[in-house]
Amino acid sequence: MREGIHPNYYQTTVTCNCGNTFVTGSTKKEIHVEICSKCHPFYTGQQKTAAARGRIDKFNKKYGIGAK
Ligand SMILES: [Zn+2]
Repeated sequence: MREGIHPNYYQTTVTCNCGNTFVTGSTKKEIHVEICSKCHPFYTGQQKTAAARGRIDKFNKKYGIGAK
């Protein structure tokens, strides 16, 4: 293995602006992020969308909309 080809690989603690921390592997010793999987709108928003879709399905079923 030649020197310089493989960067050092750390167990890096990632700190998010929301206060959440998690450990990942990285070539950096420390990572600070503004958004993570705990506070990212994609995740929280997706849960809301799934719930709304469930309600729409229920509504459609109740009134026979979309029934085949
Ligand atoms: Zn976060």
